[in-house]
Formats: sequence, structure tokens, C-alpha cells
Amino acid sequence: AQTAAGDRVREDFPILGRSFDGNPLVYLDNAATTQKPRAVLDALVTFYETANSNVGRGYHRLAFEATDAYEESRAVVQRAINAEHTDEVVFTSGTTAAVNMLADTLGRAVLAEGDQLVVTGMEHNSNLLPWRRLCEATGAELVVVDAEQGGGVDPARFAEGLGPRVRLAALTHVSNVLGTVNPVRELVAAAHRRDVPVVVDGAQAVPHRKVDVRDLDADFYCFSGHKVYGPMYTGVLYGKRERLAGLPPWQVGGGTVKDVTFEDPVRYVGVPARLEAGTPNIAGAVGLAAAFDYLDAIGWSEIRRHDELLVRTAVEAFSAVPGVRVVGDPAADPSGIVSLVVDGIHPYDVGDHLNRHGVAMRAGVHCANTFVDTLDPVGTVRLSFGVYNTVEEVEFVSRALRTVKAGVWTTEHPTERFL
Ligand code: PMP
Repeated sequence: AQTAAGDRVREDFPILGRSFDGNPLVYLDNAATTQKPRAVLDALVTFYETANSNVGRGYHRLAFEATDAYEESRAVVQRAINAEHTDEVVFTSGTTAAVNMLADTLGRAVLAEGDQLVVTGMEHNSNLLPWRRLCEATGAELVVVDAEQGGGVDPARFAEGLGPRVRLAALTHVSNVLGTVNPVRELVAAAHRRDVPVVVDGAQAVPHRKVDVRDLDADFYCFSGHKVYGPMYTGVLYGKRERLAGLPPWQVGGGTVKDVTFEDPVRYVGVPARLEAGTPNIAGAVGLAAAFDYLDAIGWSEIRRHDELLVRTAVEAFSAVPGVRVVGDPAADPSGIVSLVVDGIHPYDVGDHLNRHGVAMRAGVHCANTFVDTLDPVGTVRLSFGVYNTVEEVEFVSRALRTVKAGVWTTEHPTERFL
């Protein structure tokens, strides 16, 4: 059952050599952040050792090289998500930053008192709180369209939520809690029939599938570089050219203006520079491009095949453990996430038990409090896979699950503890 991912790429990830009390690290917290291959680490070091300089400003050779490297990285991202133009790619520090930027710019431009903004009931807080705060600030109303039981958002039900006062919709591509995949193309089409622009949170999709923003027809698509084997504090806001061009400046400062005088209105540059005020994470962008090159070398069909192997093996193995229930249907369209609950045992106790076996995972509500509230458990244990995980690791976890016992946590603990 070995594939070109799994064992064959493990040596590319130095951190996988770690162990805890004799247990090798079993890193299954990839939905939180992925580990970085040597190709990415090398790209960072090489940038800092040979080309470190600011971009777009200095008039010297290093600055030209750094600018070229930064803009070439933008082109790599453009090709990775099949954007039509390089200037549709804005570098950010992550999905959270991208959504906040959109809420503060697009949101404030299109929403007024009495208008509506639609989100789904399965959002991560990063694609919920910026919109909620925007509604509070503008007097607009937040409309929530829930996911179907055990599945994603139904396009027909979504369309029902798109009344005449809706000005904007925001939805996740893949749930970070259950790995459920939304029919984004159909949801976007439903919104467009009502002239409603759509912001897609692709944080959990981009690491697991070849995302094609043109095929999805998303107006905006956000994701985090650090979840796709790139450096920390990197991310991308994709926007259709005409949509990005319509955004007012967000943070303003160096790099955003053509000219400033004390008398005249400020003349801003075009996108994407207008939306990247100040010195960007240049090395981060270079590292993110290296991450996409690395994934291309593995091959996206191989990444999918590996994902399917791990998720289907996990669902079968975990479900066979007495008392364990896999939540949702992660094997329907695998996205590297399997969430489970154990009868009568709090997720934190399960997490503690797995942690003692060297398994890195996440237990709790996964920054999606409102979505987990719609599921029966107080939280789940989330095992999330990357290209380097193996069937043996899945089997190791399922063996460890067989010995888990109730511990100190109870459902009476205050829920704010369970993040
Ligand atoms: N959306 C989803 C679906 C996520 O899984 C995450 C990361 N947990 C985020 C948004 C936020 O990403 P970041 O922390 O990189 O900004």
C-alpha cells in the first residue's frame, strides 16, 4: 500500500526524525500547520544568504534580484491555483489576514444597514468573526446557511438564503473540523445568479487538491501558505482582477502610493502592491513558491491518491475500535482530515492519551465553535494527514485508541477551555 508520498518523502522533512520518550513523532496535526520540507527550508536560507534585500524600492542589484524572486513567487502561486493574471495574487500573512482585509475593504464598501451577508454554518472563526464584526459595525445582518447533516452545504438551500438584500457571501471550501468538501462551484454559481460576490476560505483545500480558482469562479479565494508546506506567516488572497481593482486601500504606507503631497489627494498604485503595504514577507513568498514546486514534483494526482489511501484506511481502522465513532463522512471526498469521538471519554483525554504515544493531533472545537455546536459531541479529536504520513502511522493510532481510558476531563468543564 505504499505510494510515492508517505515513506518516500519522509526524509525530506527533518523534523520527522524527532521522538518523544522513545516514541517517534507521529505528526497528524497537518490541518493546523504542515511541516516544511528541506526544499522550503533551503529556499529560505538561500534567500537570506544570497539575495536578502527589500523589494520594489532599492536601486541596486540585490534589490532587483529580491524583487524578481518575489514576483516570480507570485507567478508560481498564480500557476498553482490557475489564476488568470499574476496581479490577482496578493501575499498576506495567512487566511485570517486575507479575510480581515476583505471584511475591512470589500465588506465596508458593499454592506450598509439592512443589507445581509451570508456565511455557512461550518466556518472556521477566521471566516466568521471578521464578517460578524463587520455586520455589527455596519448594521448589516449575518445570515447563516447550515450544512446538511453529515455533509456540506446544499446549493438549493444556499440559494434560499440568498434573498434580495444579500450583498456578499463567505464560505469554506473544506471544513477544518470534519474534512467535508463543499460544492463550491455550485454555491458560487448560485450566488452569481443573484449578483452576489463570494469569498472562499480555501485553507483546508489547497494542501489536498489542485485548486482551480477559475473553474470554481470564486471572486476571492484565501489560503494559508504554512498549511501547504510553506513558511509560517505566509498566505494568499486571490481575487479576480476587476474585483481586486475595486477594493479601496487597506493598510496604507510604504509601497502603496505613486505620489503623496500635503495638498493633493493621495495617488495609490494598483493591485497587488496597493494591498501589500510595508515590507512584505519576501523570504516567505519565496519559500511558499518552493513548497508549490515541491508538491508539483510529488504530483497532485499522487497527493490525492495518498490522501484517499490514508483517510479510507483511517476511517476503517478507527471505526473498528470499540467505542470510537468517526464524525461525518471524511472518506466521501478525502481531504486529509478524520475527526472522531470516543464514547464516554472527553476528547481532551483522548488527546492526552495519544500525545503520550507521540501522536500530534488536535482535540477540541478546532476554532469552529459554532459548527461543533451543531454536532453532538463537545468536541472531536482531529487527525489530519500530510504527504509524509503512512498507513503504519494510521494503524499505530488505531492501536493506541484501543487503550484509551476516561480521565480528568468532563463535559462540565467550562467550554472556553476547549479550543
Ligand atoms: N480557515 C480554515 C478553514 C482554517 O482551517 C484555518 C486554520 N486553522 C484558518 C482559516 C486560519 O488560517 P491562519 O491561521 O493561517 O490564518
